[in-house]
Amino acid sequence: MPDLPRYETHVVENQPPEFAPRDLWADDVVLRESVRREGAGAFAGRIADYGALAGDTLYRLGFDAHRDRPRLRTHDRFGHRVDQVEFHPNYHALMQAAIEHGVAGLSWAQPQAGAHVARAALSYLHSQAEPGTSCPLTMTHAAVPVLRREPALRDWAGKATAFHYDPRDLPIAAKPGVTIGMGMTEKQGGSDVRANTTTATSLAEAGEYTLSGHKWFFSAPMSDAFLVLAQAPGGLTCFLLPRHLPDGAKNAFRLLRLKDKLGDWSNASSEVEFRGAWAHRVGDEGRGIATILEMVMLTRLDCMLGSAAIMRMALAQAIHHCRHRRAFGKRLVEQPVMRNVLADLAIESEAALVFAMRVARAVDAAPHDAAEAAFARIATAIGKYWICKRAPAFVNEAQECLGGNGYVEESILARLYRQAPLNSIWEGSGNIQCLDVLRALAKEPEAGLASWNELQATGSEDADYSGAVERLRAPLAGTLRVEEAGARMLVEDLALALQGNALRRAGSPVAQVFCRTRLGRAHGLAFGTLPPDSSSDGMIDRALAP
Ligand SMILES: Cc1cc2nc3c(=O)[nH]c(=O)nc-3n(C[C@H](O)[C@H](O)[C@H](O)COP(=O)(O)OP(=O)(O)OC[C@H]3O[C@@H](n4cnc5c(N)ncnc54)[C@H](O)[C@@H]3O)c2cc1C
Repeated sequence: MPDLPRYETHVVENQPPEFAPRDLWADDVVLRESVRREGAGAFAGRIADYGALAGDTLYRLGFDAHRDRPRLRTHDRFGHRVDQVEFHPNYHALMQAAIEHGVAGLSWAQPQAGAHVARAALSYLHSQAEPGTSCPLTMTHAAVPVLRREPALRDWAGKATAFHYDPRDLPIAAKPGVTIGMGMTEKQGGSDVRANTTTATSLAEAGEYTLSGHKWFFSAPMSDAFLVLAQAPGGLTCFLLPRHLPDGAKNAFRLLRLKDKLGDWSNASSEVEFRGAWAHRVGDEGRGIATILEMVMLTRLDCMLGSAAIMRMALAQAIHHCRHRRAFGKRLVEQPVMRNVLADLAIESEAALVFAMRVARAVDAAPHDAAEAAFARIATAIGKYWICKRAPAFVNEAQECLGGNGYVEESILARLYRQAPLNSIWEGSGNIQCLDVLRALAKEPEAGLASWNELQATGSEDADYSGAVERLRAPLAGTLRVEEAGARMLVEDLALALQGNALRRAGSPVAQVFCRTRLGRAHGLAFGTLPPDSSSDGMIDRALAP
């Protein structure tokens, strides 16, 4: 024990030791199993290295990166417009570590089987340590397939996948690596981007335009370029808008202010105005939504992973605390009600991760496997809805396990709690995901078929599971059209069945109790309502090795 100064009135006792350093890979058997099962075993060494870093250095960097929020600097001291955002140095250290380890670029830079699964694991580890930086990392990763469509933008695609972080505000030619943001949401509409009013005027050079208008949410505004939507003569179109013009001059966009957000404090989100800003068209005029949709599957996957990561960190903190804190003569982890809470959270966390990693494998296989592509298309919407929706209630429950300490900023739980709702709001809020699932079932029968085949693949010996799957037969076959008002219920049922399926496929020891409680409904509305006979022995130690 270090020689700590003593209080005159009392000794400090019954407080847990520091959480970090911890090895987020070695501690997480579910992650290790998932990586191997979903085909990324060849990357295990690389992921293990990042797990050790994330649970120590990156975890510590995250606290100050949040405490000291980004600041907008519109002008330099001589009065020139600069439109820059200053971050705490830890933000850059986090970004550098992530990009150098492939959190944004691995799946493109090393395109072998399992690369998307490996990058998903890296992203999961990073988001546990510091979820704010995951926003620019996710957007940079997801932009690559869109950038690759345009031969003129090949340099952008190449530098977005480089394992090189360069935060300098310079033209692309001077930088070995770049990050990419995106701008779709305007004041009058975010979900319904067809309402965008930003206009695009064609220039003499092929593919070049000027944009006039605004974006109401524009995150990571120090990104080197942004994929944005604007109205061209042929309709809503996708553009790449760089910070600097090809000749090196500053592009004509103005950062108006930074959002004063509930959480996500390490990362800046801005409002921006385009005043004849130069942009390069990506895809055809009028095909903006279809073009940018290529990003959407990837950003939705990262929302699933990000929320699963927040839950995982909250769970690990709760178990750690309860193992060391005593109340009423026992350690908290020995109290039966607390065991029920922790075991229930452990089941939920495992279900979130195994499903997200299963979807990562579908994304990995999608380019050469039509059935996996169809599954990835619908499963990302289902998972984005459900896993992100579960995170805030989950984090609150984990926070409560720490008592008052969980509500204090020095604990990461307060930060996780503020961060938790974000993934369900951005990139299509809950209702939008559910409507998208209905749309897929109505218009893309292969998506329903892929989900049905997935659910069929694990046998029918569990009555809770097979009963739940049977109830989904008609909607997935397209013989029962669910009305919009019923969309959330359908998607919740689908998500729970697919999570049960993923756990059963994995041979997880929590699969049966998941199916009994979530599919057989032997569960209350709050966490900690597992039936008393569903033994929590083993579940807590599986979630975090003692
Ligand atoms: C921290 C943060 C960062 C962000 N960063 C970015 C960014 O970098 N780039 C960017 O483009 N956007 C960004 N956004 C914006 C975000 O993607 C939008 O806020 C989101 O898509 C919702 O759009 P909206 O705010 O206009 O709400 P609306 O579209 O008005 O939706 C409001 C509510 O109505 C629901 N709704 C909408 N249509 C229907 C319908 N037909 N039926 C039922 N319900 C419906 C929605 O689900 C939602 O719950 C960010 C948001 C946040 C909070």
